[in-house]
Amino acid sequence: MTCGNCGSDNLTRLSLLWERGTAVTTSAGFAMTASGQSASVLTRNVSQTHAAVSASPPKKKHIVVWMILWFVYVLFPVLFGLPLRGSREGVTCFVIAILFQVLVWTQISRVNKWNRTTYAERLEAWQSSYQCNRCGAVGVPS
Ligand SMILES: [Zn+2]
Repeated sequence: MTCGNCGSDNLTRLSLLWERGTAVTTSAGFAMTASGQSASVLTRNVSQTHAAVSASPPKKKHIVVWMILWFVYVLFPVLFGLPLRGSREGVTCFVIAILFQVLVWTQISRVNKWNRTTYAERLEAWQSSYQCNRCGAVGVPS
């Protein structure tokens, strides 16, 4: 295996660079609540070197925000549509709710598809990528 840029065989796998430069620490402590009671608090800290940050694996996209919006969609017709039942505003509310559902489900399926295809490809590429220790080039060695 040699660097495609300079021909050096002094290469380090990106996943190894990332692992070596990432430290996760957990600290326990106490905090005071508003009512004066003490509660134990666990704090998770992640510290990374610059090399680890640049060698980070690809990140998955999250659908949490869209799931929350979908939940709001479920509440929307119940909260606003039912009192307006039978009126013109009720129909408008129903149409808005349907359009909102289509938008949210389109986004959720788009994010899921991205995670299944693009993310999987990027993760595979990252797992087989190296950084050259001579010239710094990143890529799949030849
Ligand atoms: Zn090189």
